[in-house]
Amino acid sequence: MSKTILVDRLCGETCLALIEDGALAELYFESKGHEKLTGNIYIGRVENVLPGMNAAFVDIGLDKNAFLYAGDIQIGDALLAEQLRGARIERLVHSGQTVMVQVVKEPGGSKGPRLSCHITLAGRLAVLLPTVRYVGVSRRIHDEGERERLRAIAEGMAKDLGCGVIVRTAAEGAGADDLRADFEALSRLWENVERRGRHTAAPALLHRDASLVDCAVRDMLCEDVESVRTDDEGLLHALQETAQALTPAFAGRVVFDRAQSPLFDRFCVWKQAESAFRRHVWLKSGGYLVFDYTEALTVVDVNTGKYVGKRSLSETVFALNCEAAREIARQLRLRDVGGIIIVDFIDMDRHEQREALLDVLHECLRKDRTRTNLVGITGLGLVELTRKKVRQPLCKQKFHACATCQGSGLVPSHEFTARQALSEVRRRRMRGDETPYLIAAAPPVAGILLKLGAPLGAGTVRVLADERAAEAEYRMEPFAVETPPSGAKLLKENTEDTP
Ligand SMILES: [Zn+2]
Repeated sequence: MSKTILVDRLCGETCLALIEDGALAELYFESKGHEKLTGNIYIGRVENVLPGMNAAFVDIGLDKNAFLYAGDIQIGDALLAEQLRGARIERLVHSGQTVMVQVVKEPGGSKGPRLSCHITLAGRLAVLLPTVRYVGVSRRIHDEGERERLRAIAEGMAKDLGCGVIVRTAAEGAGADDLRADFEALSRLWENVERRGRHTAAPALLHRDASLVDCAVRDMLCEDVESVRTDDEGLLHALQETAQALTPAFAGRVVFDRAQSPLFDRFCVWKQAESAFRRHVWLKSGGYLVFDYTEALTVVDVNTGKYVGKRSLSETVFALNCEAAREIARQLRLRDVGGIIIVDFIDMDRHEQREALLDVLHECLRKDRTRTNLVGITGLGLVELTRKKVRQPLCKQKFHACATCQGSGLVPSHEFTARQALSEVRRRRMRGDETPYLIAAAPPVAGILLKLGAPLGAGTVRVLADERAAEAEYRMEPFAVETPPSGAKLLKENTEDTP
């Protein structure tokens, strides 16, 4: 697969796109003042302990308090940690206590960021785990012999440094010296962070994780990336500098690419990104997907739409589901959807087809750098999967709920709005209010008011069709009977005309 990384900057916002075989696969944004928090290490102060949630609020110096669950707390050495495993929050921390924490999940909605006491420091080839004794090798390295070789090096280093280590995918084929250099650099970084933590008053930031540009080089630039392109000179220098420091062998792949049109336009990034912001995604065959985000999970519905297959019904449905599975895997990455995901594929009777569909989905999910877990099919035939959640999905980063419908996508029908207005008139009349009222509403609502409103007293209620009124609203105000406002129609006049 050929990969290209594009980096652009406009008015303080950096945009990064990963292109795979010409198609947009991932898209990230970072703007000044809104840098990501995940990976940052803080010395924080426990504000209050919430026994009911088995968690604590921690002040790390941001507007919102951060959240620390009991399960993410580690205090003291391994022995003490073992004794306290599964302990309630009240036994682990008390308010006023200072704790060294790392942000593991970005804040979202009304929630503050989520913290953990288990620190991880990522390098290019390895991840250092200073608080645990664990040695692991990326599951993306498949060769057993290579896994053993890397594990042996990692175990030696972990023992020397007295910490845990994970060997990253990029380490495949790397020399022992390169790996060791990476471990040692991370270990020195940790010593600095730890020292700063001891001498700094809480709350304070101790370590800022790499910027978007640094992450691109550290985590994405590898053998199968043909080039990293930018048309911004400042970015070019930053990218080259990071590449020289972390991966000099690939530094030559950072290129300056300026032409008549912006870089992202030439690769059709924005055009391709559009589908990530839409609720409906059309499939080539004529079927379509519907994405719905709820508080707890994301639901993807697969629909046949205009699709008419040439073969038998069961094969037609299977082919459509397979196409949907590929597009869903692509959209989950592009949209950066995390958490629980439920997919409602079109029903298939045959067990073998269901199994084959899961295989297709599983295969497509393997391209994802973010960890996914295909859980299986529920009793109702829904496919369950999870994807590691770090950020809010792209659409929630860039869109906010529609003010007219509060994000529901629904507005009251014209008739419902008209009836709301009429019941307000009745309510007032029953209270003995005999004031003549003018109801101003959008033309379709006004039309229904004229049709339905006669029984409420012609002459004392008038309707004004207001072109500028919102469809879901009406305005009611008293008027003088002698001088009806221009444009207002008497309820009676109209009802007499109506057959
Ligand atoms: Zn709306």
